[in-house]
Amino acid sequence: MNINKNYFDLKESYLFAKVSQKIREYKAQNPNNEIISLGVGDVTIPLAPKIVAAMSKAVLEMGAADTFHGYGDYEGYLFLRQAVCGYYAGKGVRLSDDEVFISDGAKSDLGNILDIFSEDNTVLIPDPVYPVYVDTNIMAGRRIEYMDGNLENCFLPMPNAGTKANIIYLCSPNNPTGAVYNKEQLSQWVKYALENDAVILFDGAYEAFIQDGGLPSSIYQIDGAKKCAVEFCSLSKTAGFTGTRCGYTVVPRELERGGASLNKLWLRRQSTKFNGVPYIVQRGAEAVFTGEGLSQIKRDIAYYLENARIIADALTELGIWFAGGRNSPYIWLKCPDNMLSWEFFDFLLERANVAGTPGSGFGSNGEGFFRLTAFGSCENISEAMRRFKTALD
Ligand code: PLP
Repeated sequence: MNINKNYFDLKESYLFAKVSQKIREYKAQNPNNEIISLGVGDVTIPLAPKIVAAMSKAVLEMGAADTFHGYGDYEGYLFLRQAVCGYYAGKGVRLSDDEVFISDGAKSDLGNILDIFSEDNTVLIPDPVYPVYVDTNIMAGRRIEYMDGNLENCFLPMPNAGTKANIIYLCSPNNPTGAVYNKEQLSQWVKYALENDAVILFDGAYEAFIQDGGLPSSIYQIDGAKKCAVEFCSLSKTAGFTGTRCGYTVVPRELERGGASLNKLWLRRQSTKFNGVPYIVQRGAEAVFTGEGLSQIKRDIAYYLENARIIADALTELGIWFAGGRNSPYIWLKCPDNMLSWEFFDFLLERANVAGTPGSGFGSNGEGFFRLTAFGSCENISEAMRRFKTALD
């Protein structure tokens, strides 16, 4: 029996596991200190009432013979796929329900999609970025090229004459930098993909945080994108589903490579390896896309964005460079005094009892940067920034 040796090429520990471990160790040594974590990107506001009501009703349905549901459709229930289509129509994007695949979250599908691509593709991944793209491709033994996000390009890398890739990951609004591609920039990526027969894997997990109406919240708002892009979305941050688990992946019917429809390949993959998201969860997800549901989740997102504003104001006051926070729950800051990322992590934990995420954990270009998240309570965030200012003064 030979194991998959590609696993030896992975970094030893997953970033957030290391952050948690460091916090645990610090707490053990300082049991009286209250630590505020602006580190791991998990939501804190409970599910909205409209969602809870829909899920409660679905639970009762599951307990009665005439409304019970067994296995559902591999691609998700039609009622939810239609609700997603309605949501896209609001963005000016027309999708048909067979282009939408309900998932148990974006993370699974971002990894699973690799099943339909051959191993000899060259994959282009921004640095810094959400670590899952890199790790899933390392596991599959694929060749990875990195594209630099840095201060010069405001952490929004663009294609250039030297770019050579078949699969391109884009994440906008970006985790960890909070940077968002504008229409002109996304159009350049779509043009590149069309000219080079490449496929863009567009991660829109944070699309609901976009407030600026001029910014694209779906790659399909760009002409030609249906011929070259798969889009991954999640209800995790949009509607507090990190523990409930639901997302959706859009694979347009127009998307073909090597004479094959990627939509058909993905359906074949899903029907073989995936048995769907629970009926109860899909009913909750359907409620997100109702008028009442949308207005309730908008209120929650506004709460997080107000937290982001508190963080941004404190950083502005201290004269610290940062990106994000306006159309994203993440704030990406340059570590003061040229500290390295983990150095600043220790400094902040020890001096302010505030935890964040070291930028270097998102790629080598993240070294010297640091991510704060706006997912806490307003009181905690205000207190964290008060301590942050005191520590830095
Ligand atoms: N994509 C990005 C950029 C993320 O930051 C996350 C979660 O943090 C995900 C995808 C995964 O989300 P889900 O909870 O839907 O798996």
